Amino acid sequence: MVMIGLETHVQLDTNSKLFCGCPNKKNSEPNENVCETCLGMPGSKPRINEKVLDQALKTSLALECEINEEYFFSRKTYFYPDMSKNYQITQFELPVGEEGVFEVKVEDQSFEVGITRLHVEEDPAKLVHEGGSVKKSDYTKVDYNRAGTPLLEIVTDPDFETPEEARAYLQQLSQMLEYLGVYEPDSDYAIKSDANISIEGGERIEVKNITGTSDIEKALNYEISRQKQMRKRGKEITQETRSFNAGMGSTEKMREKETEEDYGYIFDPDLTRQENNSKKIENAEEEIPELPKEKLKRYMSKGLKPKMAESLVSDPEISSLFEDLEKKFEPVQVASLLTGDLKKVLNYHEIKYSESGLKQKWLKYLLELMSNEEISDRNAEQLLREAVENPRPFKEIVEEEDLLKSGEDDTAQVVQQVLEDEKDAVEDYRTGDEGALNYLVGQVMAVSGGKSDPKTAREKLIEELD
Ligand SMILES: [Zn+2]
Repeated sequence: MVMIGLETHVQLDTNSKLFCGCPNKKNSEPNENVCETCLGMPGSKPRINEKVLDQALKTSLALECEINEEYFFSRKTYFYPDMSKNYQITQFELPVGEEGVFEVKVEDQSFEVGITRLHVEEDPAKLVHEGGSVKKSDYTKVDYNRAGTPLLEIVTDPDFETPEEARAYLQQLSQMLEYLGVYEPDSDYAIKSDANISIEGGERIEVKNITGTSDIEKALNYEISRQKQMRKRGKEITQETRSFNAGMGSTEKMREKETEEDYGYIFDPDLTRQENNSKKIENAEEEIPELPKEKLKRYMSKGLKPKMAESLVSDPEISSLFEDLEKKFEPVQVASLLTGDLKKVLNYHEIKYSESGLKQKWLKYLLELMSNEEISDRNAEQLLREAVENPRPFKEIVEEEDLLKSGEDDTAQVVQQVLEDEKDAVEDYRTGDEGALNYLVGQVMAVSGGKSDPKTAREKLIEELD
């Protein structure tokens, strides 16, 4: 029996930091965005960034948390060079939200993960170990640009039994945060998790600093097999804190696990108590858009297969394109074009739709051709390939490359020619060889260069032969 719980830190992309007016910017020169507050100088006073509290409230509601009407900030005391005032401002006794729930899908199964709490805290500064790692470095530099970056911490109950479940949760959580406008996956702002893992007969081990969604499975797989090996050899697993080494794919011991009491939390008298009144909650609720889970259900009710619907939901750009196009065209046809040929071409070039230079009216033109069966699937794909390589109106490409199926007259002409050239096959068909008809259809397609419609060709051939 394996029990896993996650504590996930989401860096917020706000204009200013959590407790001061410094820009909350990435890629600045070291120690460029700092002031006396985020440097932790004596006498400086923190002031709360209300936007962060709004984001926290909205996210708590989306996670179906109980909302605390009143909450406050505490000082978590510890001595560490990344935290120059020797305490981190966080929420301990009363967070923004508690006791929520999040539904996670793995394959065709769903399960519910308990959300213990959601709270707001400040990110510490960044330690730069010259030489790569703390063990190899002669000295360490501190960059305070990151100090005071707002974080949402989302803590789950120990409800995961496998690394796959934990990864699915993180992926679906980050998708929901993207929908809420709290997190942008392609940005420099990160999602990092600490995992608590225990196996039967052992104490809880915490693994810190696992970045993103793909490393979580690696870190957990490593840690579970390490703990199982220890048990097998009769070794005791005692509580400790480890760190994940992404390069090695392994975890390393950092320290014996401290308890919450070790941190000596005290109420922060510099910050006033906060409140979530009913008006605030109402406003936040109004800001919650349709979430991925609901959107998936709506798409499937339009006849889309789960895989197709998931593919749309996972890509907000393509999904909004779908919403526009399915007003005029058949939803399944639109979805299969967007999640099939279009995504294939975009993935090949490693670009997003908005970077492709394609226009919605061009796609409408293509869908019209497809609805009227004027273009073959193969040529539709070729059209998209050429359009992404060199964006221009689809009509031009269709004309340049002669991509439309030929009309009935043309097909009739090709049929006549094939009948004259393939006298043996005609004879075979007339003496009862049904397979000869397939061969003749194939010849019509070959002679027309793939432009004849196979159905029309077959009908014309039968008309002539009978
Ligand atoms: Zn500052």
